[in-house]
Amino acid sequence: MFVGLVSELPRPASALHLLFFLLTVWDCLFTVSAEFVGEQFSASHVLVHCIPRPEISTGHSIYLNKARLASVRPHQPSMRLLSSLSFLLVVRETYASWLDFGIPPSSETVDVRVFNVANGTVVNAANTLISPILPGRESIAVPIFAFLVEHKRSRFMFDLGFRTDPLNFAPSVASLFTTGVIQLEEPFKGITELLQDGGIPLDSIDAVIWSHSHFDHIGDMSKFPNTTELIIGSETDTQTFPDFPNATLQTSDLAGRQVTKIDFAAANLTFSGLKAIDYFGDGSFYLLNTPGHLPGHMTALARVTPTSFIGLGGDTFHHVGEARPRPSVSEELPLSCASFRGGKDVHIDRLFLQLLAVSDQPNSFYADPVTSQVSLEKIATFDADPDIWVLVAHDMSLRDVIPYYPAYSERLESEQFEGEDSVELC
Ligand SMILES: [Zn+2]
Repeated sequence: MFVGLVSELPRPASALHLLFFLLTVWDCLFTVSAEFVGEQFSASHVLVHCIPRPEISTGHSIYLNKARLASVRPHQPSMRLLSSLSFLLVVRETYASWLDFGIPPSSETVDVRVFNVANGTVVNAANTLISPILPGRESIAVPIFAFLVEHKRSRFMFDLGFRTDPLNFAPSVASLFTTGVIQLEEPFKGITELLQDGGIPLDSIDAVIWSHSHFDHIGDMSKFPNTTELIIGSETDTQTFPDFPNATLQTSDLAGRQVTKIDFAAANLTFSGLKAIDYFGDGSFYLLNTPGHLPGHMTALARVTPTSFIGLGGDTFHHVGEARPRPSVSEELPLSCASFRGGKDVHIDRLFLQLLAVSDQPNSFYADPVTSQVSLEKIATFDADPDIWVLVAHDMSLRDVIPYYPAYSERLESEQFEGEDSVELC
């Protein structure tokens, strides 16, 4: 086994990479061997311990929690001890994997805080979002997240969630509610009320960024003062009802305020294949071009510490099974998946295939499923990075564990996921 492992180890880029890699492998082997004292130590034990194992055969539970992945390294006693040595921290930060994405170093940061504006269910239409749909799982429950981002010289929102009176959406959108395709747990407070309840005056919100112009992200802009700027992707369809009867936006969504379009043609940065704009020019907050879900769809990378990020993923995906597991996740693991090819675990390769894809059905909410899947692949490489916590707008697996406002979000501790190693494939 070990001959196979050694021959398949990824080639370290430098002596420091090698040092850190060997420490990581040692840490995992130490932990696994300690846990399985008296049992025959095998590749299977390493896999079961270190890798979230999708129970594809039963089709119900999948183990793909990023916190579980993250727990492999920093939360093991031996690694905590090693990490306490400051020179290793320097190594960690100097050779952080996010540098490989092309993200420049910076000490400037933003604070990110999360609201769950509403809980909804897409009734008998989960195939508008994900594929494939298992029998009996035709409906999908989703939270609706909105994010408050605070920079030293600006306070803004990334997405707003639903308005509280969905029948007052443009008619083409309101019909989703009158026909029962989307049901909301009511009553709920809109983001403007949640902000004010939390001591955040609306006139202190300098800007609202829409990841895209779908109804569950645009809120009710008419409740914000006209000093609040609206920022959208340049490809966003800005036709409004009633001038355009089938438009999904209304005049009140855009009127009376500065609307700024982000044009990624001018972007001079590229992260993991995604065009990026340094929004404040200081490395604290980047907007990313992630097309496909809807024209103008964009995401963001918020630097919450000098060496870690929150990826604001919009609607890049709707279920973690679309993002994980996948080969890029295996790069985060102590042992490469290639290490086990040819072994006895015949399903090893399948461990790294994502379980779900974006919907490509005729009724899909994804305007361009093929391009969406490409954007998802790129965002998933961020998701696989231990220093980037990707938060999409409707991640049900996070609804009951994510720290909400007023808590600040940096990263989840694995302890918050105790007993939550699996999520329903729904
Ligand atoms: Zn959405």
